[in-house]
Amino acid sequence: MKVSRCRSCGAEIIWIKTQTGKSMPVDSERIYYTPKTNGLLKLVTPDGRVISAEPDPSSTVWGYVSHFATCPYADRHRK
Ligand SMILES: [Zn+2]
Repeated sequence: MKVSRCRSCGAEIIWIKTQTGKSMPVDSERIYYTPKTNGLLKLVTPDGRVISAEPDPSSTVWGYVSHFATCPYADRHRK
C-alpha cells in the first residue's frame, strides 16, 4: 500500500492492489462500514476486495472509496 497524490486533482490517495492483481487508487480517508448486499457504498477493503456496504461510524472495520468515484477529473484517468 502506497500513499501518493492524484495527478489530476491533487487529493491524497492510496494505491491498493486488488485481488485481481491490479493497482487501484482510493481516497486516503477511512470509511467505517457494515457489509450489506446492494449497500450504498462500493468500498475497497485494505486487502483489495471490492464490497457493497453501508456507512457505520460505530463499526470497527473500514474500507476506502475508489478515487475514480470522487475525482473531479475521473475522465482523465480512463485512458
Ligand atoms: Zn483525482
